[in-house]
Amino acid sequence: MKFEDYRIAESIKKALSELKFKKPTDIQFKAITPILNGEDVLAIAQTGTGKTAAFVIPAIEMVLQEKKRHADAHIRCLTLVPTRELAVQISKVFEEIGKYSKLKVACLHGGVEQEKQIQSLTAGADVLVTTPGRMFDLIHQGFADISKLKMLILDEADLMLDLGFYKDVTDTLKHIPKKRQTLFFSATIDKKIKKLAYSVVKNAIRIQISPKNPVAKNIDHAVVFVEMDDKRFFLENILKEYENKKFVVFVRTKVRAERVVKAMERVELKSVFLHGGIEQKERFKILEAFRNGEERVLVTTDVAARGIDIPDVEYVINYDLPDNPENYVHRVGRTGRGRNRGQALSFCSDTEVLLLEAIEEYTGEEILQYEVKPEDYDQIIFGSEDSSNDWKRLMKQFETDEWLDK
Ligand code: AMP
Repeated sequence: MKFEDYRIAESIKKALSELKFKKPTDIQFKAITPILNGEDVLAIAQTGTGKTAAFVIPAIEMVLQEKKRHADAHIRCLTLVPTRELAVQISKVFEEIGKYSKLKVACLHGGVEQEKQIQSLTAGADVLVTTPGRMFDLIHQGFADISKLKMLILDEADLMLDLGFYKDVTDTLKHIPKKRQTLFFSATIDKKIKKLAYSVVKNAIRIQISPKNPVAKNIDHAVVFVEMDDKRFFLENILKEYENKKFVVFVRTKVRAERVVKAMERVELKSVFLHGGIEQKERFKILEAFRNGEERVLVTTDVAARGIDIPDVEYVINYDLPDNPENYVHRVGRTGRGRNRGQALSFCSDTEVLLLEAIEEYTGEEILQYEVKPEDYDQIIFGSEDSSNDWKRLMKQFETDEWLDK
């Protein structure tokens, strides 16, 4: 089936064709028709599967139909998301796919001034994409009215729970009509999420995408065993080998993110770090620079692991393995977006072997191991342009000399 064949407005089809979306992805194939039929949906799908368009396409169609019936301006669709970055990203997808549908989208999130956000609301938004905190601020100030909406979408519901938004979600229900359509999306499912899900949906159609191995099929992932102190040389090596490719490099802490960027600077590789300690405005700027190709290497903590959709990321490097196996799936999901292929490579030191095992248990799959021959390993270190590794060269030389003396 092609998008051409769907029962959706020509204005949506035109935008999809411009985006080069021809055929639906798996989640889109399973979700769009039931949503168009007015069903509630409970979907377990990770980012990278095309899940955003799976709800955005039928949501826009619903808004268009509703506007034909009742022309007065009001919010018809509310999308609740856990983070600011996701709010911005999803509202962009609404804008792109709604480009020819005269769709008015408002995006609310904390961390920036309210003025502009209020303006977009008073201009008569059809769709509101928001984090819970800012939405409640603006409801209480009388700028946001969600009392007439037709569709509620919850995206990344599991992260919403992790971040403590349970009460915000249930409070939202008090402000919206009981008679509505609800779409519930989560990357993972457990008891707590089920409880939340069943408190918001009614007789929902359940959809699950690749339940067994949550790592998207179009991502090749591998692990290489590297000493902790040698990780930067391996990163240098791979960044130089694939000098035109886009990389997201995940590290464990903010300090490490900054250090890795400095280490790459020493060998004349430009990269940029992103972490939760950076102000929101600056974070958006960094992501934008990475998105538009001004920056090609983004070194980040797990703040960028979820949801963020940046096209053309060819490589994800797990410079440090994540403590939480679920984050592995989110991290590697930054590559292989939509129908693209992606590569994910993890650097595993002696101290991280248990983390690797936990990841393999979680994904139910052994991760392919890259064997690096000792001479190649040495070559990667000696080949570095970082003069601060001279002591390593000396040590190595010393060991070799000692061996030759024997
Ligand atoms: P998502 O899982 O919503 O974050 O989407 C992942 C990526 O897939 C995004 O870059 C989308 O632009 C892309 N995408 C979504 N649907 C399609 C489609 N039907 N065909 C091609 N690419 C798509």
